[in-house]
Amino acid sequence: MALIVHKYGGTSMGSTERIKNVAKRVAKWHDAGHQIVVVPSAMSGETNRLLGLAKEISAQPDPRELDMLASTGEQASVALLAMALQAIGKQAVSYAGWQVAIKTDSAHTKARIRSIDDTKVRQDLDAGKVVIITGFQGVDEQGNITTLGRGGSDTSAVAVAAALQAAECLIYTDVDGVYTTDPRVVSDARRLKTVTFEEMLEMASLGSKVLQIRSVEFAGNYKMPTRVLSSLTDPLMPLEEEAISGTLISFEEDTKMEQATITGIAFNRDETKITVLGVPDRPGIAYQILGAVADANIEVDMIIQNQSVDGKTDFTFTVPRGEYTKAMDVLNEKVKTHVGAASITGDAKVSKVSVVGVGMRSHVGIASQMFRTLSEEGINIQMISTSEIKISVLIDEKYMELAVRALHKAFGLESA
Ligand code: ADP
Ligand code: ASP
Ligand code: MG
Repeated sequence: MALIVHKYGGTSMGSTERIKNVAKRVAKWHDAGHQIVVVPSAMSGETNRLLGLAKEISAQPDPRELDMLASTGEQASVALLAMALQAIGKQAVSYAGWQVAIKTDSAHTKARIRSIDDTKVRQDLDAGKVVIITGFQGVDEQGNITTLGRGGSDTSAVAVAAALQAAECLIYTDVDGVYTTDPRVVSDARRLKTVTFEEMLEMASLGSKVLQIRSVEFAGNYKMPTRVLSSLTDPLMPLEEEAISGTLISFEEDTKMEQATITGIAFNRDETKITVLGVPDRPGIAYQILGAVADANIEVDMIIQNQSVDGKTDFTFTVPRGEYTKAMDVLNEKVKTHVGAASITGDAKVSKVSVVGVGMRSHVGIASQMFRTLSEEGINIQMISTSEIKISVLIDEKYMELAVRALHKAFGLESA
C-alpha cells in the first residue's frame, strides 16, 4: 500500500463524463489498496472564462479579487469529483486550499506555497477516504485566497505530494507523457520514457507548458517521483500497465550522458524585445536600466549590451508579453531621461526557441548545428543565450513553428 497523489488537468476534468472517468480511475487505485489524494484543475476553459469576465468589468482588476474569482473553477471541480466518487460507492471528501491549509505568500495571481498542513488529510486517508484538494489555490497569512499562476495545479499536486511524503505524484493530462517537443506543433514528436529533472526544469522554464515550472522545482527539491501520463486512456486499464506508462522525471542525472545530444525543443511565443538605444557606456548603466524594470516586478530574460561606439551603447533585453506595456512605461517615465538614452524601441512579435539536453555537456557542435539549420531556413537570429544544457534563440514569431520543426528534424528527434 502506498500514498499516491493524482493530478488531473482541465481537459481531464472537462465534462461530467470525463469526471466520472476520473472517479473510476481513482477508485481503481484505491481498490488496489492505495491511499489516494486527488488534485484537480478547473474544467477546461473555465479559468479563461472567469478571467474573461473580470476583463469585461475592468481593464485592471484588483489581483485579490481576481484570485477570489479564478479559484472558484477548482472549487467546482473538487465537489463534482467527490460526488462522482460517492456515486460509485467510494468515501470521498473535498477541500478548498484554505481548508487544508495550503499557506502561501500574498503575491496574488502568482503566489508561492510556504507550507501545507497534512493533519486533516492524513486523518481522512486513515479513515479510508479519498481526499480531493483544489489545485491552483492557497491562502495567505491574512486569510485571503491566492492563486499560484496559470498551470498552477501541477505545483499544488507536487507540493501536496511532498508534504505528505507520497510515494509518487502522477500528473494525468491530455497527452500520454512528455514529448521531444509539443506534439501539437510537431506531429511526429516522440514520447520520452524518462526525462532528467534538469532537462524538465529547462523545458518548463523555456515554455513547455506540459508542467508548470514550480512543480518541477518542488519535484527536484523533495526528490518526489513524478510521472506525466494520459487521463484519456480506458480508466479501467490494468493498473500495473498504467503505473509504468507516460514519462517519469528521473533524478539520475548521468544516465543519459552517452545518449542523444538533444532531448527536446521548447518554445515560447510569449516574448517581447526592448532596446534602449544610445546610452552612455559607463559603470552602473545596466543596473539603472534593469534595476528599474526589476523594481516594477517585471521578469527580464535574455540580455545583451552591444559594443560601444563613441562612448555610447545599446542595451537589449526580453520581457514576457503581458509585461511589455508596463516595462515600456517604466523605461519611458523613469529611465530614459535619467540615463540619457537616445530612444527606446520594442518588438512585441518575437518568440524564443530552445534546444535542451544534458548530452550537450559532452558533445560539441550543437550550437553550430542549430545556427546552420536556422540559416538554411532563412531564419534570422536576433538574440542568443546559453546554459550548460540549453541554447535559446530569439526569432521573429512568424518563423517559430518552422524553426521548431526544422530543429526537431535536424537533431533526429522524430519518432521512428
Ligand atoms: P493540463 O490541463 O492537463 O494541465 P496542459 O494543457 O497544461 O494540460 O498541458 C498539456 C499540454 O502541454 C499538451 O496538450 C501539449 O500540447 C503541451 N505541451 C507542450 N510541450 C509539450 C511537450 N514537450 N510534451 C508534451 N506536451 C507538451
Ligand atoms: N485552472 C488553472 C489554469 O487554467 C490552473 C491549472 O489548470 O493548472 O491555469
Ligand atoms: Mg497544465
